[in-house]
Amino acid sequence: MATQTKDFYRVLGVAENASADEIKKAYRKLAKQYHPDANPNDAAAAERFKELSEANSVLSDDDKRKQYDQMRRLGAFGGMGGFRPGAGGRPGGAPGGTQTFTFDDLEAGGLGDIFGSIFDFGKRRGGAPNAGGPERGENIEYAVEIPFRTAVRGGKVTIQVPVTDECPTCHGSGAAPGATVSTCPECSGKGTVTFGAGSFGVTRPCPMCAGKGKVPSEPCGTCNGNGQVRRQRAVNVTVPAGVDTGSKIRLAGQGERGASGGQPGDLVLTFRVEADSFFSREGLDVECTIHVNLAQAVLGSKVKVRTVDGQFVVLKVPAGTQPGRRFRIKGMGVEKSGRRGDQFVKVQVDVPDQLDEPARKEFEEFAAAAGMRH
Ligand SMILES: [Zn+2]
Ligand SMILES: [Zn+2]
Repeated sequence: MATQTKDFYRVLGVAENASADEIKKAYRKLAKQYHPDANPNDAAAAERFKELSEANSVLSDDDKRKQYDQMRRLGAFGGMGGFRPGAGGRPGGAPGGTQTFTFDDLEAGGLGDIFGSIFDFGKRRGGAPNAGGPERGENIEYAVEIPFRTAVRGGKVTIQVPVTDECPTCHGSGAAPGATVSTCPECSGKGTVTFGAGSFGVTRPCPMCAGKGKVPSEPCGTCNGNGQVRRQRAVNVTVPAGVDTGSKIRLAGQGERGASGGQPGDLVLTFRVEADSFFSREGLDVECTIHVNLAQAVLGSKVKVRTVDGQFVVLKVPAGTQPGRRFRIKGMGVEKSGRRGDQFVKVQVDVPDQLDEPARKEFEEFAAAAGMRH
């Protein structure tokens, strides 16, 4: 039986050290995208929207976020590693100075709502816990920063995606090598416990056995008994040419692994394009600024300009070019799906702020020839 693990940072596609502002922005953008009004009769979007609201309600609140981060560090995901067999409800049960949480501590900390969303298994299936059947893995949403050139021309990047994997030491059992495994005393092997009574009763995975129904005499040291470990998985991503900030791609089967033989989830990547020192971009068009000196602007000149292909084209700057004038190089913008934008070149005229004596003389002659007085 797998616990639905939900990582609020991942839900919003932000880093775990994201600023409040970044969280707000990410939430706004996604909430707009998945809002029920924009997705009528779309159950998946509605579910996603719910997740987003949930994640935002916690991460946008400093106190809640702090508590959530603490739980997250304690391994509340991936099988509630914080609740070690034998340690649940008893203070000081965890070795190595790890703080041991009990249900009561968490409830007292005002985490009831977070609690509900982390230990939400069964919620999506009408309240009935999945009875050990194949279960599809979660999708992972991840934001990827890519260099400007890679976004424009396409390419390959390798990213490290945090995933939950079966513990290599205990192969998911949560038991230390050689430990004996017995029926969980907390849930009598059911794997679930029920809080409250009657119509207010809420069934959750058992905190002592993390839903497994069994507890080992000694928990596995690698995974703290939860049978799963977090690790970084290297994923090679082929970036299609022309992607922009906000573009998404889906890598089927690269998400979290499924439970009990279920299919793995997908990896959904959202690209964020880094700024370039030379080019800026607006849709498929790019813009850059070149510098010419006064003589080049006055007399006209030919200037080499770099394109997004890494090549150079020669731009003819006509005589009398005014500062700030923009030139268009047709068809040298970003190419995407057979369409290609243009490259705009803005000309900045550099006026010398100091002249040596010969140069000053020449300017004076120039001024005299042009009938200027000074
Ligand atoms: Zn283990
Ligand atoms: Zn149990």
